[in-house]
Amino acid sequence: MGTMIAASGGCLCGTIRFHAAGPLVHSLVCHCRMCQRASGAAFMGLMFVSSNDLTVTKGEARTYGSSTTGIRHFCGDCGSSLFFERVSSALHGILVGALDDPDLFDPKMHICLSGKQRWVNVADDVPCHLEKPEGMTPPGDYDPITGRLIERPSA
Ligand SMILES: [Zn+2]
Ligand SMILES: [Zn+2]
Repeated sequence: MGTMIAASGGCLCGTIRFHAAGPLVHSLVCHCRMCQRASGAAFMGLMFVSSNDLTVTKGEARTYGSSTTGIRHFCGDCGSSLFFERVSSALHGILVGALDDPDLFDPKMHICLSGKQRWVNVADDVPCHLEKPEGMTPPGDYDPITGRLIERPSA
């Protein structure tokens, strides 16, 4: 905590542009299967800021509610994934591939490593979590055939 960021970015076709300015809340890599599906990539690098600190300055992103507490934002023209919104925490996670300067990303954690793709070797010297650390919204099980999230019963 305490790191302030000022970051601009946008989608592949330029229809959507955004700017974030404020405290960085989380900086992490998520290896869950939902992030893999949503990005089409092996994992998702995310920089989380307060939803109030993120402004879409051009265009309007389309959204998909991937769970009861999560909304995924993307460009309806080119399909680029842009943000993961955690509604229950009022946070927006910016997908680092959408940043104009991806070097701003400095991952502090890997989460949901139970979903990690076999060939990915995590060599970062940062905390690694098989699921999610305490205090984060627990992961659900995703059914890719029905597209539904199956919330895990609380222990
Ligand atoms: Zn676009
Ligand atoms: Zn994820």
